[in-house]
Amino acid sequence: MYHLVSKLFLCKHYWNRKKDSLIFQNKEQLFNFQENALKKICSYHNIVYNNIDLIDDIPEFKSCLKFMEMTSSGTTSGHSKKYAYPRPQYDLIESHHIWRIEKSHNLLQSKPVLVFRFNDLVAFNIGEVFDYMALGKNKVHVIDYNNAIDWDKAADYINGHKYVVMSPTEIQLLYQTKRHFSCPVILTRETLIENVYDMAKEMFTSVINKMRCWDGGLSFFSCPYNRLHVYDELCFVEKTDKLISTDFFNYCHPFIKYHNGDDGILDEGLCKCGIYGKFFEEFWGRRVDALLVDNKLVSGHRISVGLQTVLRKLGVNISYKIHQKTHDEVEFHYFGVIEQDDLNKIAACLSALVKCKIIIYYDSNLLNMKSKNCLVKSELLL
Ligand SMILES: [Zn+2]
Repeated sequence: MYHLVSKLFLCKHYWNRKKDSLIFQNKEQLFNFQENALKKICSYHNIVYNNIDLIDDIPEFKSCLKFMEMTSSGTTSGHSKKYAYPRPQYDLIESHHIWRIEKSHNLLQSKPVLVFRFNDLVAFNIGEVFDYMALGKNKVHVIDYNNAIDWDKAADYINGHKYVVMSPTEIQLLYQTKRHFSCPVILTRETLIENVYDMAKEMFTSVINKMRCWDGGLSFFSCPYNRLHVYDELCFVEKTDKLISTDFFNYCHPFIKYHNGDDGILDEGLCKCGIYGKFFEEFWGRRVDALLVDNKLVSGHRISVGLQTVLRKLGVNISYKIHQKTHDEVEFHYFGVIEQDDLNKIAACLSALVKCKIIIYYDSNLLNMKSKNCLVKSELLL
């Protein structure tokens, strides 16, 4: 078993032979695998390891613990790049995700898959780009597009595919075509955004949720019974007062027991689909990347998806951050070239999301922002 863990995602032939043993059916199988995987990663970091249930009580472990706490999505993306997996391993783990979902949803038949990919340079281009490594028979059609895309034309292309992989922003844009499709859609992180889930459900035969976090490896997918299964073969997730995770395979990531700010209700048990493992009863996303509206958290991701939809429709490209100081006012800071009319439309969209007055600031400090990530912060949540 120890040997299995070290080779699993390094060699596609080895993974192909062993992949079925990564679906656990009882507590013993889960425990044995995770114990060995933790031993492996701990020995790599020179940390003494004893028993996974007692991981916090081991003094040697604690003293060596490289604990990392993230505070915003902006910093996470920086770390993700720095501590990324080597490319072949990344591809194999991604193939593994897809295989788990296809097996769970009975989608293993050979048929092309469709992926949408935002690309500044191309209005609409369909390319048959690659086979999924490790799966072999699944041709992947990629639609590269930018703000000039005709969504009606894109919709024409969807039927005939096994499933479509889309982002929540794309779902909102596609929804305006009022079309229905004869295949499922795989969405990333859509649990956080109920209205996007509803739109996707109306358009597609089913909605499959897939989330991958590169820091700490915390990842999940939804099965046909709508349970959010944690990928127990990729990460060890624990809930103390915080949600923390340890990635079993990312040796260039120097942190174990990693808290990236996500939160939720974690449980463990056997699902009707036959998988035994950890799952999220509820997943809330990031508390550090959210606003407080009517005493409820509205995630930064949800706000970002709402704004991105408007920005793409208007065809404008600006940097921005959102800052909540009181219950009555939210500040919108932006940098970039934009007409006043368009700015008003963005403010109206934001106002609808956060149900209060929006104050707009032109902010040249945003010029120094490393990414165009939406930065959402609330002083009411600090
Ligand atoms: Zn299940």
